Amino acid sequence: MRESKDFLRTIVEEDLKSGKYKEVITRFPPEPNGFPHIGHAKSICINFGIARDYNGHCNLRMDDTNPTKEDTKYVEALKSAVEWLGFDRGDNVYFTSDNFHKLYDYAIELIKMGKAYVDSTNEEEMRSLRGTVKEAGKRSKYAVRSIEENLDLFAKMKEGEFKDGEHVLRAKIDMGAANMKLRDPLLYRIRHANHFRTGDEWSIYPMYDFAHCLSDYIEGISHSICTLEFENNRDIYNWVLDTLGLELPRPYQHEFARLGINYTVMSKRKLLELVEGGQVSGWDDPRLPTIAGYKRKGYTPESILNFCDQIGIAKANSMVDVSQLEFCIRDDLNKKVPRVMCVINPLKVTIQNYEGTEDIDASYYPHDVPKEGSRKLPFSRELYIERDDFCENPPKGYFRLTPEQPVRIRHGFIISCKEVIKDANGKITEIKAEYYPDSKSGSDTSGIKVKSAIQWLSAKEAKQVEVRLYDRLFSCEAPEGVDDLNPDSLRIIKNAFVEPAVITEKPDERFQFERQGYFYADPIDYTDEKPVFNKIVGLKDSYAKKKKPTQEVVKPASKPQTKKAQVEGEVASMSEAQQLLFDKYTTELKLNAEVANILARDEFLSSFYQEALSALNSPVSIANIVVNEVSKEIKDKQASELKFTSKQIAGLVKMIDDKTISSKIAKQVFEEMAKFGENPSVIVEAKGLIQISDPSIIAPIIDEVIAKNPDNLEKFKAGNTKLLGFFVGQVLKATGGKANPQVVNKLVHEKLN
Ligand code: ATP
Ligand code: MG
Repeated sequence: MRESKDFLRTIVEEDLKSGKYKEVITRFPPEPNGFPHIGHAKSICINFGIARDYNGHCNLRMDDTNPTKEDTKYVEALKSAVEWLGFDRGDNVYFTSDNFHKLYDYAIELIKMGKAYVDSTNEEEMRSLRGTVKEAGKRSKYAVRSIEENLDLFAKMKEGEFKDGEHVLRAKIDMGAANMKLRDPLLYRIRHANHFRTGDEWSIYPMYDFAHCLSDYIEGISHSICTLEFENNRDIYNWVLDTLGLELPRPYQHEFARLGINYTVMSKRKLLELVEGGQVSGWDDPRLPTIAGYKRKGYTPESILNFCDQIGIAKANSMVDVSQLEFCIRDDLNKKVPRVMCVINPLKVTIQNYEGTEDIDASYYPHDVPKEGSRKLPFSRELYIERDDFCENPPKGYFRLTPEQPVRIRHGFIISCKEVIKDANGKITEIKAEYYPDSKSGSDTSGIKVKSAIQWLSAKEAKQVEVRLYDRLFSCEAPEGVDDLNPDSLRIIKNAFVEPAVITEKPDERFQFERQGYFYADPIDYTDEKPVFNKIVGLKDSYAKKKKPTQEVVKPASKPQTKKAQVEGEVASMSEAQQLLFDKYTTELKLNAEVANILARDEFLSSFYQEALSALNSPVSIANIVVNEVSKEIKDKQASELKFTSKQIAGLVKMIDDKTISSKIAKQVFEEMAKFGENPSVIVEAKGLIQISDPSIIAPIIDEVIAKNPDNLEKFKAGNTKLLGFFVGQVLKATGGKANPQVVNKLVHEKLN
């Protein structure tokens, strides 16, 4: 058990001590509508972890009350995620749908108590009757129905006698409650849809607020742990269980903070969009924050468990820097995996004073000497080295091979360059070199000094492999959509080379390719004919803020990374001042938590933001630009090097706010500002970027687009209304993004309908 207890474990211990529960029973209740992501891993660790720590158990429960979105393949993905993380889920998987009959009976009980009624108001009216935060709502006129009528209607709802949306079952609680969720919440709705488990048996499906608490109760859950956004649902949770007067013990709900990570999106809905949109290769694409993605990329379960442990359990939402997760995997693999050599972009080196071949005995774990395991590294006349590891006109501080500077080939000899061979275009095709026979690593008596060691392979024995170099899927910290995708998130190198032992001995599935990073044999695409390796993570945090201009690292590659360098990307908890800022941003200025988190933690960005804000009161728009654009600029610059001022940024935002330019164009303008420091209005003027909102200019463009696409027009008329978006998109494109999207939308709508 851990030394310092989190607040959930404190509650659990108190409940056990007081005898409230004999056994701790938790549950992990995902909706099977997508693959689980790293946020779910956090929830899994909490729920299964607490159960394990207190000798209880945790139910894996599919919250399958929304038939249109759910699927068995997601159930399987959830099961395997829990197993892969190493938790015991028992033999059973639980399903809310297993309780549909019991839930129905509980609903009848509520009706009989006069605590639930069938409402037939339409959705729109229902919304207007709900009131606002400041005003009490009004109860529906149908709330006066007799118990008999309610029972009759509810039975008919179940029998499928009504259409979707015709009636709902609502709890009769309090239309004036300060907590809006208590204003007669919906308990059941009609949905004529095929459920992946119950088929067409049901025409009504219970709502989360009704199904969840009762499923917890039915399963004997003691602690129902969920994320903070359910805080306001806690009152209904209690109302349902209390009103039904259920026998004790009953479960109670406790909330913790959701995990957010920068440079990615996390909700299953957004992930599904990427999968369906083809931006990634599937749910297990190594660039996704899904558990299947991490697994395929080569992450170990230990690294994820460790990460979940490090981030802890808190009651305030915050965003974790992805480099913290990267640190965890690096830290885990650093200790475990064999170190071998790979050349990604080969350059031929011919050792002119060497004939024949020999094997060099090289440890797989040179950083961990007592650890056994080594392989034979063939050395011969023809080698491959990394193209980057030779430089004809080296900059100051270049420590690898140059015409004047010898270098050591890792585990082997010191070599020096004698001649550089080039093709007609001046591209280097080969290095003629010599080696020093008495310089062999471990028995070097040559007395030659070198500044680094580089990876290499014997050309004849090297095995060709494909390596897939993954980078972050999005290029900004708080991505808003596909516009923010990183175009270089995947680079495939078809003809990289590895030393033969990697393929023939297969000492592991994961390797450190020295100086390149950690790699994993792709579990799906790897074949003997075409070995494929995924890059798991680099050797150091390449994103950590650059403080000085880049400098060659003096240490040879074999030296283990120092802890300090790796810790750089780690996230500390907020200081009091940062927390105050965060609170102000989220409550007063209504920024979303992710944006507020980035601003609050960064002294420069927050003061820049405040300055811009004092020039223009538009907190949300300014925050978005500061977090997404300004932050990128300051990453490797000093504040004094920025070409633009906070006032100019305010000017840019003003043009978005008053619709002079679209936010898409704003990005373009910003890039100009960052390069040349001109005023945004000058740039907009000079480049003719002003947003076009005048219908008399836009209308003819729409006509043209329609005329050019008769097939789609036909399809649209035949009922494919999705094509509306197609036409809007074409018009925006035709104007180079300058047309006002709202106006285009409205006009296209009018023209087509
Ligand atoms: P999403 O928005 O990604 O679909 P969700 O909350 O709708 O997430 P569920 O499948 O309903 O996903 O969640 C199952 C459990 O996992 C819930 O208890 C939920 O609170 C928890 N969970 C989901 N996302 C996170 C997260 N980012 N951090 C921590 N816990 C999470
Ligand atoms: Mg959900």
